[in-house]
Parts: sequence; C-alpha cells; structure tokens
Amino acid sequence: MSDSIPTQLGFLEPVESVVREEQAETESASESVPEPRALAPMLQQYQELKKQYPDYIILFQVGDFYELFFEDARVVSDILNIRLTSRDRNSPDPIPMCGVPIHAIESYLPKLVTAGFRLVLFSQVEESSARKGMVKREVSRIITPGVRLDGEGLEQSQTNYLAALVFHSGIGSVAYVDVSTGQLKLREVETLDELIEALEQIAPAELILPLTVFGRPVERTVGWCREVKQIAARINAEVIYRPFDRAGESIVLEHLRGRMSSAETLQSLHEAPAESLTALEVLLLYVDEVSFGKPPQLSIFRRESGESALFLDGATRRNLELFETRMTGERRHSLIGAIDYTKTAMGGRLLREWISEPSRRQSEVEDRHQVVESLLENTPSLAELRFLLLRVRDLDRILSRVTALRASPRDLAALGDSIAILPRVKELLDLHQTKLLRELQEQCDPLSDLSALITGALLEEPSNRLNEGGIFREGYHKTLDELRTLERDGSTLLTALEGREREAIGIPSLKVRYTSVFGYFIEVSRAHSQKVPPRYERRQTLANAERFITPELKELEVQLLSARGRQIELERELFSELRALVASHSARIHRASRVLAVLDVLASFAECARERGFVRPKLGSDEEIRIVGGRHPVVEEIVGVQNFVPNDVLLNSSNRRFAILNGPNMGGKSTYLRQVAIIQILAQAGSFVPAEQASLPMVDRIFTRIGASDDLSRGDSTFMVEMREASTILRKATAHSLVLIDEIGRGTATADGLALALAISEWLHEEIRCKTIFATHFHELTTLPETRAGMFPLSVGILERDGEIEFTHRIQESAAARSYGIEVARLAGLPRRLVDRAAELLNQGALTQSAPISVTHREAPSNTDPVSRQRSAYFETIVGELAGCDCNGLTPIEALTYLDRLVKRAKNLQV
Ligand code: ATP
Repeated sequence: MSDSIPTQLGFLEPVESVVREEQAETESASESVPEPRALAPMLQQYQELKKQYPDYIILFQVGDFYELFFEDARVVSDILNIRLTSRDRNSPDPIPMCGVPIHAIESYLPKLVTAGFRLVLFSQVEESSARKGMVKREVSRIITPGVRLDGEGLEQSQTNYLAALVFHSGIGSVAYVDVSTGQLKLREVETLDELIEALEQIAPAELILPLTVFGRPVERTVGWCREVKQIAARINAEVIYRPFDRAGESIVLEHLRGRMSSAETLQSLHEAPAESLTALEVLLLYVDEVSFGKPPQLSIFRRESGESALFLDGATRRNLELFETRMTGERRHSLIGAIDYTKTAMGGRLLREWISEPSRRQSEVEDRHQVVESLLENTPSLAELRFLLLRVRDLDRILSRVTALRASPRDLAALGDSIAILPRVKELLDLHQTKLLRELQEQCDPLSDLSALITGALLEEPSNRLNEGGIFREGYHKTLDELRTLERDGSTLLTALEGREREAIGIPSLKVRYTSVFGYFIEVSRAHSQKVPPRYERRQTLANAERFITPELKELEVQLLSARGRQIELERELFSELRALVASHSARIHRASRVLAVLDVLASFAECARERGFVRPKLGSDEEIRIVGGRHPVVEEIVGVQNFVPNDVLLNSSNRRFAILNGPNMGGKSTYLRQVAIIQILAQAGSFVPAEQASLPMVDRIFTRIGASDDLSRGDSTFMVEMREASTILRKATAHSLVLIDEIGRGTATADGLALALAISEWLHEEIRCKTIFATHFHELTTLPETRAGMFPLSVGILERDGEIEFTHRIQESAAARSYGIEVARLAGLPRRLVDRAAELLNQGALTQSAPISVTHREAPSNTDPVSRQRSAYFETIVGELAGCDCNGLTPIEALTYLDRLVKRAKNLQV
C-alpha cells in the first residue's frame, strides 16, 4: 500500500488553495445578485462580529484556514510576514485579506498576543461541504495578552498577570490574576507612589483601567490615570477600559465561591474597601468575558498587606538585578539566573516569588533553612527528589486548561505521569524530621486514584488532537475496541485493494489516497490514465494525475469511514468525560502542585548551597549584620570563584550603623553593596547564603540607590530620578531597614550635590537610624565619622606599583585618600594626551569643590615631536604640583612617596 494511504482520518490535508477558494465561492454564491459594493454574506457575518469585538483581531475560519480581512489583514500580514492578498481582486475596491492554515495556527497565536493584540477565533461549527450557503460559525476562543489560558508564548518561569486597578478617595487597589496558573491576588495601597510601585512590581501584561468609578466618569487625563498609563507603557502592559461601578460585595463573593478550588479565606473580603471589591469584580467579569463560559479555576486568594514580606521597591529590584540585568535585560547574570536550580515550572515561578517578596517572619524563614539543612544532610534523598521532580510538568497550567475544557489528551497524560511521583515523594519526606517537611508530607495527597485512572485510560503517548483518535488504551472501553478491530480490517482491505488494482491494470505507481473533501480515490498519473478500465469512474483531473473511484472502493470507504468516524466520536466523548472527572479534582491537584513547587524551591536552595558553598545564616534578634567572607553570587560566577575576593561586613544599630565607603573606581564598591543586600534577601527567602558565616537580623525593607539613569517614560531627568529614589528611601526606611546607596548628588552641580549628600547622610543616620552603607567619591563625606558616633569609614583597597594601580577588591576599615579616576580612565583606553592633561589639571590642585576653577593657561600643542611635548607637559605638571605642595603638611613617609612618584615619572620620560 502506498505511504499516502491514511491510517487515520484527516491524515492528508486537502489541497489548500482549491478548498479555500471553493468555500469562499460557495459562501458567496448564496448572494443573490449582490448590490454594487454590498458585502457577501460571509463578510457581513464578519462585520457583525467585528462590531461586537471592536478591540480584537478576528481570525475567521474559512475551510482549512483562519482568514483575516480589511485592516486586520494588513496589520497581521506584516507581523507574521505572510502574503497579503485580496478578495474580489477584479473589483475596483478589493478587500485586503490574508490567512493562516488551521493546522499551523498554534504557532502564529503567541506571536500576535506577544505583539499586544487581543484575538477572537471564530470557527465553523459545521462542515462547509455539507451545504451551500452560509456556514454556521461561533466564537471558539479568545486570547488576550493577560488571559492566555494555556500559556501561549509564555516563559515557563514567568507569571502572566491581568490586573484591574483603581485609585479613588486615597485608596488604591490592584486586583490581579494569572489565569494560566489560577492565582488571584489583591493589593491595597494608600498613596499614588505605592500604587505605581505595586504596578511596576506586578508588571501585568494587560491592565484594566476605569472609564467610570462608581458612576462618575474618570478623565483619562486625570493625574493618577495619566501616570499609571505612562508606567503601563513602560512595562508594556496593554490597557483596556471598563466601568468600575461596584455592583456589590455579594457578587464578588459569589464569583469567587464558585471558583476557588481551595477553601482559602474569603473572610478578609468582608472588610475590604469598596475600591478593592470593584477592582476584583471588574477583573473577574473580564476573565468571564474572555473565557466565555469556561472560566478558569482560581486556586489562591490572598489579600496582601505587605506586612509579612520584606519590601523591595522597583528601583531596588532593578539595581540588584534580581531577575534581569540592567543593561541587557537578560536573565543570565541576574541573581535568579545564578541561583535557580529548580526542576519544575511551578518551582521556578515560586522561587521568583520568594526572591521578589522574601519573608519577614523569622519562624517561616527558619523552617525553610531547616529543610535545606536536612536535605543537605541526606544528599541521596535530595538527589532522588530532584530526579523525581524532573518528571513533573507544569501542573498549574495544565490544570487551567483542564478546567477550561481545553486540555488535550497529551496534557492529561502529562498530568497523570507527573502526579505518579507523589507516593514516592511522600515516602522520601518521611526520612526528614523538620517541621515544614512534616507539614508538606501531611498535605501531600498521593493522588493515586487519579494517576491510576489516567494512566489506565490513556495511551502512553496519546494523540494531541481530539479529531484523530489514538487516545485510549486497548481494553478501556468495549465498544471502542470493537470499532478499532473493524477499522484495522478495513485498512488491511484497502492495502489489498491497492495491490490488486496495480497488478490487474499494470500501473505500479497507482495509489489509493484520501482527502477530507473527496474521501478515498485511486490516483493514476496522466501518462497511464488511458490504461484504466471502464469500471473506473473519473472524479477529478489534476495537472499530472487523474483521480477515480470504483464501486468496490466506495463500499470499502463507507465501511471504513463509519468505523473510523464512530471511533473518533466515541474517543472524543470518553475523553471529555475523563477530563471533566479530572477537573472535578482540581482542588486536590492544585494542592499537590503547590507541595511540589515548595519542595522544588527548597531542593533548589539545597542544591545551590551544595554546589556553590553557601552556608546557613544564623537569624538573630540582636539587629546585627555580621557576614564573614561574603560573596556576590553573580560576580563570583563571572570572574571565577578563585578570583573573587570575599569580604566581611559588620553593621549594628549602635556603634556601626552607618558606613561611608570610598576608594578607587572599579575597586568593587557596588559589588560589595549589592552582595550585602543579596545575602540578606537570600536569607529571608529561605536560602543559604554565599559566605563563610553569616548572622543576620530580619530586616523590614531594603533600599538601594545605585547608578544614574533617566526615566523618560515618566518624564524624569537623571537627577530627578536620583532625588525621587532618595525621597522614597527617606520616606519609607525605618530603623529596621537596610539602605545601600552608591553615590548620591552626582547629577547636579558639585556643591549642591555635596550638600545634599551630607544632608541625606545625616537624615538617615540621625532621624531614621537605619543600617546604611553609603559608597561615595565625595571625599568630604569621609570625615563625617570623626564627628558622628555610629558612623565609620570603609574603603576598597588598591596597590600602587611602579605608577601602576592594582585593585585588591578587599574592604578595609579606613577611608581612602583618592579615587584613582584618572588611572581608571587610562585603563579604559582614553587618549594618553587627554589623560595626561587631566592629571595635569588635577595636580594643579585647582579643581577643588570650594574654589572656582582656575587653570593655568595651556598653549595649543606645538608641532614639536611627541616626546618633547610630553616633557613639557610633565614639566608643567611638576611646576604646578610643587607650587601647590604644602611641605609642612606631609609626613616624612608621604614626602618620600611623593618624591618617589615624581622620580619614576621622570624616568619614564627618559626612555
Ligand atoms: P565605580 O566607583 O567606578 O562605580 P566600583 O568600585 O563600584 O566602581 P564595581 O563596579 O563594584 O566597582 O566593581 C568593578 C569590577 O571589579 C566588577 O565588575 C568585578 O569584575 C570586579 N570586582 C568587584 N568586586 C570584586 C571582588 N570582591 N572580587 C573580585 N572582583 C571584583
């Protein structure tokens, strides 16, 4: 039998263009004599739909294609890089159109949604060949950037939020949901700044803003709305507007009660302000609208107060490069990129959550540390656990497809295979005595009944589609088995018929083939077509071949198609039943999924600690940060473990509260600041930390202000950003916070900047009394510790050898005298003459902050040779330097070092 004989219905695709045009013709044919420019009925149907979904791109099924028309076609053909054609090509006003084959649609959808479009798939619900005239169609699917049920185009480790946000009477509420995992959350804030902060942190893919609030129109130009829209543009959130007119608490409760898969507390909602309930309601209604009748199951509901989590603002997350690097936006070389050893998608997402919102509850953190320690003490069980987790697929996302009735047979098989590890996981947890593992062990439902049900029903690798059969195991259902036997016999008969015909007519290339439009037929090349006997009935003539049927083939076809069709129909029904049954257990599966996610993150912490030499931090209540041999986990990876110089930290709330850190550029100040923050975050997330030893307090907030950049989307200049960040710190830091500042006041005039830096230092130290490390190149600040109790100097070391500098990257307990900016500029490759000129200016001592700049006049370079030029420059430098030198202020050693430097440079010029 030829390879092209289908063993499954729909195996061969119909000849696309023929079908596409034929159906379009058929649907247009019912047009009685059309009015000039009147649209064909099919396009009228399209226009009606477009009116209902004006914000959406409509993908309109015509036979085996999803077609797009008018402006949609223009936009989409451009994005997908597909050919733009037109309908009614000969009319004076052809309609732009383009299309994608149905079988390839899944690969196109993510591209469109990621580009920010909302999509409606409008599909045929009856065969186009069945009758002439209009084919019945229905909306089969809606996808928007924030509502992607099956996570199309989403990164596994990322959440994808849809948010509804309102700010009214001094209360800001953000309700947000990730429908692909079923997580629903609510955050309330009291100021616009906090609202912006929350929005930046949640970073929804789609944002619903109010058209009206409690019946009153909201001007889109109102201050808060304008600002929120600017942030939405910056984080690439697609904005959509809806009325926020609260219908009543009971409606939200009703919505949630019907959907929550776990008995999480809905109690807190009774105290929720009206703004929150409205935001929740708008959110849930939109999810309903988009999932039209198949709303996802929601698993977790939390009203976040912010009290239980270590607060990290947007600037801090960015500065510390927790999830992506600032320069390139890459995950690699971010903190998460360095410490993520999770094996499952759910674990990856949970790790992100824990790093993003580390805990402030000491007992919770200690429970996690205890688990990590216990896993490290029993490495075989750690290895086995991680090996088992490898098998686990994205249960949350599969489950949301199951409850939305969109899960495929392969999804269900993956679910069955994933949960099959649970009994062994439960046994492994028995080996550990820690409190948290005991709790997880108790919560771990082995789901053996479900796993047996699924694996007993489905083939090991079932088909991914419902219209192909090949889903259930032999023996699962009696009637199905009978139909299969019938079909198998039919297939054998087809093969035999093909062989017989070839032999009888003497055409070896004769083939029995199949298309969904023509059914089974015998195909003979044109060269042999005169050989066919009269019992062959011609059906179709192609360029190179002719297609025939025979009575015998027809009969066989009926037998085969009916067995095949009934079998597919039955498998589809059985599968729907199985899927619904599994969906009814979604709360149990969600709980198991959560257990696996937590275990995965804890095992990841343990594996990371094992591989990277992290240690368990001691959590103290004495408010002291004491780190011995602390490391930056990312820089360590980049420069190589053996090249990284570990450093110590000691901060407390009494005599070492405020460190002023200075020293050479490139010395490692930023690295040091960041590593202190990262160690604290990792510890409070439940991880071990990169150090030899660490005793840490539980801090409430960490703030960093590092580097300078403008924020054009918010209309802020570099200096404005700097001051905004400083303002946030000053307003929000408490005595239990950790503040890390890498330079402040550099974006304005030196005197203003210095004054601000001094005033900010005093404020942090005396008013707020938080633990602070302040890295600066303002030398004036380094004298502060002399007069302020609790302040102390730190610097990064440098070695100077033969006029060359070498960074030791070691933190020392004293202030550095210089910044070595000129030497670093030389290392960076600035032109030598320029660097010399800078050195000359510096050595003149004229560029002090207090004195106006007075610079010796400099002749334009003469055309003498370079050596003479250098000598004269050197001469000028020496004269300038000596003129400004105060011999009485130098110790003998300094005088000797000074002389030595001059001599070395003179010698260099002699060469
Ligand atoms: P600037 O004042 O110019 O901002 P800086 O003092 O903040 O410089 P960093 O940016 O922290 O310097 O460090 C510069 C480089 O030095 C890092 O990219 C890293 O390659 C290296 N480095 C920093 N700290 C260490 C360390 N402890 N061990 C080894 N290399 C380090």
